[in-house]
Amino acid sequence: THALGPRISNWDEQRKNWLVKNPEFPSHVDGKARVLLVTGSPPGPCDTQIGDHYLLKFIKNKIDYCRIHGIDIVYNMALLDEELSGCWAKLPLIRRLMLFHPEVEWIWWMDSDALFTDMIFEIPFFKYDNYNLVLHGLPELFNQKSRVALNTGSFLLRNCRWSLDLLNAWAAMGPKGRIREKAGEILTAYLKGRPALEADDQSALTYLLSSKKEKLMGKVYLESSYYLHEKMMEKYDQPLMGDERWPFVTHFVGCRPCGSHADYAVEKCLRSMERAFNFADNQVLRLYGFEHRGLLRRSVKRIRNETTAPLEFVDQNNNNWLNRIVN
Ligand code: UDP
Ligand code: MN
Repeated sequence: THALGPRISNWDEQRKNWLVKNPEFPSHVDGKARVLLVTGSPPGPCDTQIGDHYLLKFIKNKIDYCRIHGIDIVYNMALLDEELSGCWAKLPLIRRLMLFHPEVEWIWWMDSDALFTDMIFEIPFFKYDNYNLVLHGLPELFNQKSRVALNTGSFLLRNCRWSLDLLNAWAAMGPKGRIREKAGEILTAYLKGRPALEADDQSALTYLLSSKKEKLMGKVYLESSYYLHEKMMEKYDQPLMGDERWPFVTHFVGCRPCGSHADYAVEKCLRSMERAFNFADNQVLRLYGFEHRGLLRRSVKRIRNETTAPLEFVDQNNNNWLNRIVN
């Protein structure tokens, strides 16, 4: 079967030795694990121009979040393995990044069509000290082998041998053509509610974890106390929704901003994406004294007067944000 590369059985020792020899690249800074946020899109332009515009907005949102929280970010557009195209492209990429960034403790994959809607929230990494994979998901759905038990639009994977092995096992259903088609049949037979489609990375991971529960689930944390990922179109597309109901990460499942077809009406998708983007963008713009004129408006307005003592606002911003993070 197709593997991403040779099994590196002593990766944990190799990495540990490297970290000891390179103290200028620590895996933890001030007690916090070093995190690399990874995202990307296909090598070519989107089917529509507006699709490219939304990809730009979605990466701007991620850059803002990462700057504010001191997280490094990678945007990949290269297809590293021709066989692993589409949603499978993240697998070889994550492996390369683990191997060539030994200083990174956690890889945080985020789809191009997911964005932060709470710019302040920080992931409680300390909760995951004993885990290697963190996904948004519900144990009940997982036990029922539901195809929506977990989501691979936003997840955390620790840089360790366990993860490299997982990636190799996960990639087995990915090679395009016969393998991916045959695997799709297995997944549809196994998972509840799965339509007859070729294998996708999310179903494949659910299948792998579910069929090797004993072996793998001890290191997997299904998080549901906050929204590491939340499907926008199913739950949150209400026009009068209050601000406090926005999730941490909003994922536009089924909208395919870069593709030509979507499960929802294009206009509805674009409107929802615009609102979510502007809602998050306001949290950034307010730091500098501006906000959008409305959640569907690109234009911005001033929210405070010019001042000769701007540092007061810097302190105020920092206090507001620190309070939210601590509480
Ligand atoms: N992706 C990528 N390169 C590709 C295709 C997809 O990096 O050639 C990434 C992109 O971030 C996308 C994710 O993989 O959001 C999941 O792919 P999928 O085909 O499920 O697209 P989506 O429905 O998320 O747009
Ligand atoms: Mn997606």
